[in-house]
Amino acid sequence: MNSDLRHDSYKIMSSVKSAGTKPEVIVRCGLWKRGFRYRLNHKRLPGHPDIVLRKYRTCIFVNGCFWHGHYVEPDIMLSTKCCRIPMTNRDFWVEKIRRNKARDKEVQRKLAQMGWHCISVWECELISSKREKTIDRIAFTLNHIFLEDHSIQMLYDITESKSKMFMAAEE
Ligand SMILES: [Zn+2]
Repeated sequence: MNSDLRHDSYKIMSSVKSAGTKPEVIVRCGLWKRGFRYRLNHKRLPGHPDIVLRKYRTCIFVNGCFWHGHYVEPDIMLSTKCCRIPMTNRDFWVEKIRRNKARDKEVQRKLAQMGWHCISVWECELISSKREKTIDRIAFTLNHIFLEDHSIQMLYDITESKSKMFMAAEE
């Protein structure tokens, strides 16, 4: 075997490429089945969220555990069960993952300032045994957000809100 092929980075990248259904597609399909309607990769929003639900004023980011350093503490930058930082070129990977994490945080801060909610979903939460539960949880959070955001209007005009809730078809 060519020594290049044994590099951790090579293995990681090839496993990302060969992954069957992309994690964000799993989330999209799951939400669609549960009746949620959305837009994809909204270019004008910070961080180009994977899924945008305008009705819920919510962006969903589906994070790869390696690239976004799942469970990795930015101050320590040690490998975790989800993110094994390669020994080869370790400094390079540490810096890359650290920058990704900093960018994620900054994007969430900007979106929050603009009045958007953010939901982050991790790749490891989408393995087949956990998938349905994870998407149920997202659906629950979305409904909760919607109710919170609309509870004041509902007090004013409960009839109108109700008909909106049932009739509004998300674009
Ligand atoms: Zn993970």
